[in-house]
Amino acid sequence: MPDPTSLRIIHYPDSRLRARSAPVDRFNAELRDLAARMLTLMRESKGVGLAAPQIGVLLRLFVMNPTGQPSDDRVLVNPVIDEMEGSAVATEGCLSIPGVSVQIRRPVACRIVAQDLAGEPVELRGRDLVARIWQHETDHLNGVLILDRMGPSDRVATRKVLRALEDPVR
Ligand code: ZN
Repeated sequence: MPDPTSLRIIHYPDSRLRARSAPVDRFNAELRDLAARMLTLMRESKGVGLAAPQIGVLLRLFVMNPTGQPSDDRVLVNPVIDEMEGSAVATEGCLSIPGVSVQIRRPVACRIVAQDLAGEPVELRGRDLVARIWQHETDHLNGVLILDRMGPSDRVATRKVLRALEDPVR
């Protein structure tokens, strides 16, 4: 793994954002350094979540903080989402797609089963913003972006911004 301090948030259309990330099997100091770097980058960017592929590391983990309070920092490794309930639309942005915010329909509540940085099992239930962050970040681990989930009007509305990201010299 590269020196974590050299890692930066990568942007669409970087192909690493489309990869399926690999399970984490070593819960060591390297993993903890990686998570710490991800939390720093998330905070600097004023985001509520950041997945490892967003810094070019194709491993199944993400960090999140729905409130901005340091005590609410959380790292979830090898997450699996199930027991989804309800459905609601809310606005989502993505640190890897600057300038784009779109309406996304997702289940309102879900369970997440994962591991912490020590490899210990974690099982949580959440709803609203927390459940939405879990789903958005878990999507990243499967190469799925909000662009894949937005509706037709957002598809039209974001066309120019996406084209500029795809071809920045034009
Ligand atoms: Zn994102």
